[in-house]
Formats: sequence, C-alpha cells, structure tokens
Amino acid sequence: MTPTFIDSHAHIDGPEFDDDRDEVLSRARAAGVKTIIVIGATGDVAAAERAVRLAEAHDDLYATVAIHPHDVAQMDESWWAPLRALAARDKVVAIGETGLDYHYDHSPRDVQRRRFAEFTQLAAELDLPVVCHVRDAHDDARRILAEHGVGAGKARGVIHCFTGTPEDAEAYAAMGLYVSFSGIVTFKGKSAQPIRDALTKVPKSRLLIETDCPYLAPVPMRGKRNEPAFVVHTAEKVAGELSMTAEDLAALTAENTREAFGLP
Ligand SMILES: [Zn+2]
Ligand SMILES: [Zn+2]
Repeated sequence: MTPTFIDSHAHIDGPEFDDDRDEVLSRARAAGVKTIIVIGATGDVAAAERAVRLAEAHDDLYATVAIHPHDVAQMDESWWAPLRALAARDKVVAIGETGLDYHYDHSPRDVQRRRFAEFTQLAAELDLPVVCHVRDAHDDARRILAEHGVGAGKARGVIHCFTGTPEDAEAYAAMGLYVSFSGIVTFKGKSAQPIRDALTKVPKSRLLIETDCPYLAPVPMRGKRNEPAFVVHTAEKVAGELSMTAEDLAALTAENTREAFGLP
C-alpha cells in the first residue's frame, strides 16, 4: 500500500499552477499525498481569498491566511476586516505565513516585526496555530512568539521551511512549536548540512514535512517547478537521516500535521 503523506505548506493557489492545477492535484493524490495545506499569504487579500476558495473546492485541501513578511510593506489597516472574515471560514486552519525575513528584507524590519506580532496575536485570539516564515531572524522571532503566549499557553505554531541551526530547532521545539522541513534537506553540499543536523534535534512528535512549492524542488527534481507530489522525495531523505522507513515517517508526519493544524 502507498503510504499517505501530507504536504504541510504549498503555494498551489499561485499563478505558477493556473495552467495545470487539476493535473498537479491528480499527481499528488496518485503519489499518496492525500492532504495539502494551501498557504494564502503571497501578495494581498485577494491572494488569501484565492487560497481559501481553492480549499473550499476540494475536500483534501485546507488553507491558511495572512500576509507574507515580503509583502507587509504594502499592507493597509483596511486589510484586517477581510482577513479576519477569511480566517473564520471553515477550511481555514491557521494564520500564516507570517514572520520575519532579514535575508531578503523586502519589507522594512520594523514593519515585519509589527505585523508578525499582530498576526501571532490574531492566531492566539482565534485559537489557531501560526505558520511562521523565519529567515536570519530566529532570536527576534522567538521573542515575538513568546511575547504573544506561544510556548507558554494554548497558542501553537509551525516554523515552516526551517533554515536555522540545530540549536534554533531545539529552541523552537522546546517552545512546543512544530518544525517543518522542505526539499532543502535533500540538497547536496555543505550549506544544507546544518539543516540535516537540525533534523535529529527535533523531537519526532514535532516534525513536519512540506514542499513550499513552487520553490525548492527536492533532489531529484531540483531546478524544476516544485509540486506537492514531490514531498515524497523529501520524506524519503528525512526518513533516511532518521533511520526510519519512509512509511513510518509518512505516518508520523501526517499525524503531527493533523495535530498541529487540528485537521480531522
Ligand atoms: Zn515562507
Ligand atoms: Zn511559503
């Protein structure tokens, strides 16, 4: 029997999939990827709404809503009401992705910090997990999360596409956060080694996998447009690093994802 995988972070609402989205979903299902979390955060409120509508059209899709740290410079206060309305829809299972990206700095850092704090607060208020994008900003991210009750109370969250050090991974897990690994773990070369090392520091109960498609396609698909079916390659690599079978890793991460996002 084909194991059942979950892709915990996919941007299949985006224009990269407009020509063949149904085929992409068929390939995912054929590969055993039975559930996909669609991240509605790239751009503006209309983008968030697109992700929610997509999830509402398919039983096996769920959505998140927020505004990506790259795009918060454009965010206006008038966006809160429609974002809150979207967050209340049945298929919306998290607030995100939100966070801090000091690598690209596409939005001013003070604006990123303010919006990350506000979205984390909203997640806590709605009792939803917060999906965090953190690049070169782990100390600030942990401080803001802690200030808004993550790790201390019921608020929970995911550090998606983890790119920090093994110590960062341990610190997030100690706060009760889930840590999600993308195709980067399959990349050859030295720069991906700390991320593979971090894998072994995350308690198994906190481990998730994702594609972050259309970016970061795992080996042997590297360089192609990524899609949810390819999460299988990441699962195989992670399983190998942890000396588990791909079947056990699939079952473990699927169960963790259901718990992280409160999926049925
Ligand atoms: Zn991200
Ligand atoms: Zn993303």
